[in-house]
Amino acid sequence: MAYQTINPYTNELIQTYDEATTEDIETSLAQAQQLYKRWRNDPVGTRTPVLHRLAQLFRDEKDDLAKVLTTEMGKLFSEAQGEVLLCASIADYYADHAEELLMPRKIDSIAGEAQLENHPLGVLMAVEPWNFPYYQMMRIFAPNFAVGDPIVYKHAANTPASALAFEDAVKRAGAPDGSLTNLFLSYAQVGDVIADSRVQGVALTGSERGGTAVAEAAGKHLKKSTMELGGADAFIVAHDANMEQVNAIAPRARLYNAGQVCTSSKRFIVTENHYDEFLENLKKSFAAVKMGDPMDPATTLAPMNSKRAKEKLQEQVDAALQGGATAYFVHEPAEDDGQFFPPTILTDIAKDNPAYGKEMFGPVAQVYKVKDDDEAVELANDTDLGLGGIVFAGTGEYGAQLASRMETGQVFVNTFFSSLPELEFGGVKKSGFGRELGHNGIMSFVNQELVVKRDAPNDNEFGGLVAPAHYHDL
Ligand code: NAP
Repeated sequence: MAYQTINPYTNELIQTYDEATTEDIETSLAQAQQLYKRWRNDPVGTRTPVLHRLAQLFRDEKDDLAKVLTTEMGKLFSEAQGEVLLCASIADYYADHAEELLMPRKIDSIAGEAQLENHPLGVLMAVEPWNFPYYQMMRIFAPNFAVGDPIVYKHAANTPASALAFEDAVKRAGAPDGSLTNLFLSYAQVGDVIADSRVQGVALTGSERGGTAVAEAAGKHLKKSTMELGGADAFIVAHDANMEQVNAIAPRARLYNAGQVCTSSKRFIVTENHYDEFLENLKKSFAAVKMGDPMDPATTLAPMNSKRAKEKLQEQVDAALQGGATAYFVHEPAEDDGQFFPPTILTDIAKDNPAYGKEMFGPVAQVYKVKDDDEAVELANDTDLGLGGIVFAGTGEYGAQLASRMETGQVFVNTFFSSLPELEFGGVKKSGFGRELGHNGIMSFVNQELVVKRDAPNDNEFGGLVAPAHYHDL
């Protein structure tokens, strides 16, 4: 697919970009490898000031950077500004905490003075999606830059301007050449880069489709990988939930970023005592949205990112209805020609419905009625996906008990889902493996090298890898 900027509100084709050449790829990998060799011996603290400068640059240029996002993938300008500020906080967090997070860990051992040292792994390949074009990049860039892993990356075909703006900001913050290099790669070229012996790790955020292809290539070439994939996150309304809080949070949990968030609440699982009230309130909120120019502060629902995404969602809704679901509510179509999808609420989704347990990546809510909290947890777990989740319950403590029974990567109780630099992000099942952000995130592409030192050989009873009885047989 061609790398193109198409404004999904006006449908204007703004620019088409050339794909990377074989020479571009070779130059980028050579430069990244050279930098890795240098960084291998440089302390973390030599890099972290760049992250502070990058954070400041994101804050100083918030509106210009946000406008690129809104123009290219359609999100509300206010949400784009929020994304830029979140990026600044991620960069600051790793600038402040990377040294501490990457401190060697001493191990009490009879072998000698043992410690795990955290060294860079090498050049990484990142493949990123369009839904949060800067945030997805910052999630992988800031921690790995601090570690000392240079990155080459392929961004989504529909967000090339955002990809270039991010790369440019990193350069202007003073990162050395090779720290982060954007390449407009074809799928085949992604495979070539992964196969290259200089590349030591692969990180993808995207769908099962992209994840399967890239994880397969990483596996084939024995490269460590992390996969941040889709979700069909449950929003459980327990029997004792505070409905005022639920009604305030539920619509935002589905409609933020026009519903195109991996951790959007996609399945509302509501105990029967709250079901009617829940539906009534969700409908009121969905009916009240104002679709329009995403740059206009009065607009509350942005267009979807592309015509293709809108058509795919419509196909999923049509299939769900054909499969017996009820369209409890469908908003009037937008007056503009942009790629708007009218907010929709689906109910009566039976287990054999094609939508059951599946991700719908846009402003469509699936609402399920259950008799009690146990059934809610059971239904929440009845999917191939397990990325995030929200639980509303009478107390945080009780909600956390339900959360712990959910087969998923992250759950927020009695509050909105948020991604923050200090919190691990990632999923289980077909939502992927590995974590970004938090302590685990920064350790994803680290060589945890064990060093054991003594001043003279060890005379412990084991002598080597084998127990004494076998030792003499060798
Ligand atoms: P996608 O199709 O998998 O695309 C993501 C990235 O992978 C893009 O750069 C895409 O390039 C690339 N890609 C796709 N197929 C590829 C292949 N065969 N070889 C190499 N690269 C390939 O995902 P999407 O549908 O655009 O993004 C939305 C999905 O991402 C949703 O499922 C959402 O839940 C998930 N997501 C997950 C997280 C998380 O952290 N877990 C965060 C955000 C989004 P092209 O654009 O050129 O196709």
